[in-house]
Amino acid sequence: MTKIGVLALQGAVAEHIRGIEKAGAEGVVIKKTEQLDDIQGIIIPGGESTTIGKLMRTYGFIDALRDFSAAGKPVFGTCAGLIVIAKEIAGQPEAHLELMDITVARNAFGRQRESFETDLPIKGIDDNVRAVFIRAPLIEEVGQGVDVLATYDGQIVAAQQGHLLAASFHPELTDDFRMHSYFLDMVKQSQA
Ligand code: GLN
Repeated sequence: MTKIGVLALQGAVAEHIRGIEKAGAEGVVIKKTEQLDDIQGIIIPGGESTTIGKLMRTYGFIDALRDFSAAGKPVFGTCAGLIVIAKEIAGQPEAHLELMDITVARNAFGRQRESFETDLPIKGIDDNVRAVFIRAPLIEEVGQGVDVLATYDGQIVAAQQGHLLAASFHPELTDDFRMHSYFLDMVKQSQA
């Protein structure tokens, strides 16, 4: 069975494991870099990107995940995870993994709409995918080779660049696991 890891330094880990299993793969809780050898794809969850980034540096995950991605293994960042994989973070001198050619703005929805749920049309999936936004980031700019998968109010909230997938929202906090199935398909393709 395909094994997909969830980076478990901080954030919504158990919910993603459930999503992976609903999609039909084995979910693995990843706490050490050595475990990356045993999985075919990884999800970086929502939480607090500053904290996740700090812990990634402490535990050697920056280089390990760059190698993982360079080997063509798929990486999916959700919410804070999207911030962690971005090449640039607006207003911050340094980014974290710098994998995906996107510029993100943190906490971009403002106080009025800090948290909300909606049905989103997502390219390649369907026109009514349930999405939960919590103090969500937005993708401000995408580079060449980045495919926009979803927008909300004219702003980019999901994108893909080859084996890299990013969503501003939390697909793991609903019972709609089609985004996890989409990622599983990417992982299977990367192995074919
Ligand atoms: N606001 C958080 C950050 O900037 C992300 C929020 C989330 O993951 N739900 O890291």
